[in-house]
Amino acid sequence: MNKCLTNPFSYHLFVLLFSLIVTDPLTTLRLRAAEKSIKIGIAEMEITPEPKKDRPVYMAGFGHNRTATGILDPLFVRTLVLDDGEKKVALVSLDVIGYFYTEVQKIRSQLPKFDYILVSSTHNHEGPDTLGLWGKTPFSSGVDTSYLEKVNRRIIQTIQTAEKKTTSADVQIGKLRIPELVHDSRLPIVKHDELITLFFKERSSGHPIALLIQWNCHPETLGSKNTKISSDFVGATVREATRQLKCPTIYFTGTVGGLMSSLQVEIKDENGNLLKGGPEEKTELYGKKIAQKAIESLKNSEPIELNPIKIKSDKILIPMQNKLYQLGWKLGVLNRKAYLWNNDKNGKRELAKNLDKPIAIETEVGFLSLGELEIAIIPGEIYPELVLDKVENPTIPGADYPDAPIEPAIYKQLKSKHRMLIGLGNDEIGYIIPKRQWDENPPYCYGRKSSQYGEINSIGPDAAPHICKTWKELSNNK
Ligand SMILES: [Zn+2]
Repeated sequence: MNKCLTNPFSYHLFVLLFSLIVTDPLTTLRLRAAEKSIKIGIAEMEITPEPKKDRPVYMAGFGHNRTATGILDPLFVRTLVLDDGEKKVALVSLDVIGYFYTEVQKIRSQLPKFDYILVSSTHNHEGPDTLGLWGKTPFSSGVDTSYLEKVNRRIIQTIQTAEKKTTSADVQIGKLRIPELVHDSRLPIVKHDELITLFFKERSSGHPIALLIQWNCHPETLGSKNTKISSDFVGATVREATRQLKCPTIYFTGTVGGLMSSLQVEIKDENGNLLKGGPEEKTELYGKKIAQKAIESLKNSEPIELNPIKIKSDKILIPMQNKLYQLGWKLGVLNRKAYLWNNDKNGKRELAKNLDKPIAIETEVGFLSLGELEIAIIPGEIYPELVLDKVENPTIPGADYPDAPIEPAIYKQLKSKHRMLIGLGNDEIGYIIPKRQWDENPPYCYGRKSSQYGEINSIGPDAAPHICKTWKELSNNK
């Protein structure tokens, strides 16, 4: 028997302390919070494609027929599983250009016990074509379907591994604005320049177990001439944060439309000199700077409760108005189902067989509420104007739809203390452009002689109104 308890004095002290612990309201609250604590687990696997003689790897993001000649650094799937005791969700990040909803649905069907699975791509422009748009010619797909199958298997494996590793965690949220590290290459200049971090520490030991970084920039720093497979700056960011904090790191891409890029960002070395090396040096340094800023954001971070978990999502139809996308679908370059479009995003699904009538694709908008944090899951590259309520008003002369109503802004709908946006969430439908900023036909806005880049890689001018309306419905009917 424990000697301590046999001593009458110690025994009474023990009883007194015990009764204080169970009756003190603060302690009781803490105990309840501890019981309800969020559990998290993290895992990663490599998904680097291998260039072979008989089957080239077509690289995505720039022109056609950019075939890979080697590997600069590996690509990964990284997964964070969160479990509040009642609901279990997996947040997956892929080092690829985008991933269609069709593949996400296949993955979800294999893991029915999960309440929600999010698959988001970093929008990496230095990896393989996973959508079909960057094959040998505009008329042939660049996708290797056996590669997609491999990625799907590894996504499932990382979800299962992360689930097994879940442990109770305390969480801090950090935020930092870094406008100097993103360039907006399309007028009007509106940047979503807030970097967000979630830092998870094991409750029992206090050891760091994971860092989540969310930032808004195209991973395209290596540029269009690079032919070596790479995860672009995201790889450098993850490696550096992992090295400094000694815990796994997962990166999510947010608002990248409109057009948030690293290409024109000037990067200087430690002595303030412009870099003399090529894109590889810049990519590495840019990535390290993002990691450094993520770590800096932790200095003023604050504790955050991530339970309870609540999920809402809506499957909707979006009209495919882009003529090139329509042609790509007809040729099988864009390999996904299309439905007849009857001007109803929630209308019934009738498979389309040809282009005789307007067609639409099915996608999903998601709303993930993690305690004090609300996350918008948007299936493409949304313009910052639509997130931050900065759509041009009045309309700039020359716009194609000057009278289009301003879409309800994403962040404006959120009531909670903290918010975040994950882009390319469960799909990649291209740019989501404010309808009144659509400018494909002359005369052009801002007195330009040609249209700005953007519309060519958007499913159409009605994508933004439908996505923003759906988001408003989801977030206001909590
Ligand atoms: Zn893009």
